[in-house]
Amino acid sequence: MAVSARRAHEDACGFARKRCALPFGDSDVGGGDDGDADSCPMVVYRHEREKHRASCPYRLVPCSIPGCNERVRQNRLAQHVAVCDKKLATCPNLCPWRGRAGELARHRASCLVEIVACGKEDTDFGVGGNRGNKQRDKCAYRGERRLKEAHDEQCPFRGVACRHCDALVCARRLLAHERTCDEKRVTCDACGDSVLERKLSAHRQTECHKSDGLKYGKCEFHRFGCAFAGSVSALRAHAREDAAKHLRSVALAVEASAVSYDAWYAEVNELRDEVARAVARAAARARRRRVALV
Ligand SMILES: [Zn+2]
Ligand SMILES: [Zn+2]
Ligand SMILES: [Zn+2]
Ligand SMILES: [Zn+2]
Ligand SMILES: [Zn+2]
Ligand SMILES: [Zn+2]
Ligand SMILES: [Zn+2]
Ligand SMILES: [Zn+2]
Repeated sequence: MAVSARRAHEDACGFARKRCALPFGDSDVGGGDDGDADSCPMVVYRHEREKHRASCPYRLVPCSIPGCNERVRQNRLAQHVAVCDKKLATCPNLCPWRGRAGELARHRASCLVEIVACGKEDTDFGVGGNRGNKQRDKCAYRGERRLKEAHDEQCPFRGVACRHCDALVCARRLLAHERTCDEKRVTCDACGDSVLERKLSAHRQTECHKSDGLKYGKCEFHRFGCAFAGSVSALRAHAREDAAKHLRSVALAVEASAVSYDAWYAEVNELRDEVARAVARAAARARRRRVALV
């Protein structure tokens, strides 16, 4: 036999020894005559190769789970079945949900008994002694999703509007904030005006017209439109000199607010009497002065 004829025979000879060469990977192609390193290393007679491949551990087989269309290497079938998306699954939270493994993540994102963390952050950095903290404190609550809404309404880290300044403050710091809020107003118990608490003592000393500590103040008739303000002695002199004007402004105010007159009745009467007495005293003094001069 000529050398060339022998070569031709060997290339096709059924008894030539060949690698199975089905690929290890997921690729469907491969299995050429020699394959490469990543393929079945089994060496068989060429004429028996198809028989070997029919039971080769690297052959593709369909996944055994109904609904799954994947074909996988037979030697990795168990591995695939364990994680197959179409596998029947139950929820690890033991809720009544039943479905396919591939849908479990979506279910758990809304599963009512999944444990969820609150994690709401403080609106401010460290509190009190921790003022220097670079990180905000967080709510550490964890619980079933169905309880989360109730928690949110009670969460110590929820924002609540300060009733003085309207700023959103962490509920757990609200009391402390409101106690010292810059916008906190109090009612001056001397004059009844609403005053910023941080300015109360200044108010008492400079503008409260009924405070004992008054050094400077508004005219007692400022609510009736008198704009006069001054020291205690200046106010006394003003009350004497402008008594007639005050009487007029009280009368005007009474007219303008006839509807609410009843509510004012007592106070206005008292003021009017005061004015009348001041006028009478001034007149009496003037009379005495005239008598003395005579
Ligand atoms: Zn041969
Ligand atoms: Zn093989
Ligand atoms: Zn499958
Ligand atoms: Zn569930
Ligand atoms: Zn919380
Ligand atoms: Zn505030
Ligand atoms: Zn006051
Ligand atoms: Zn006045």
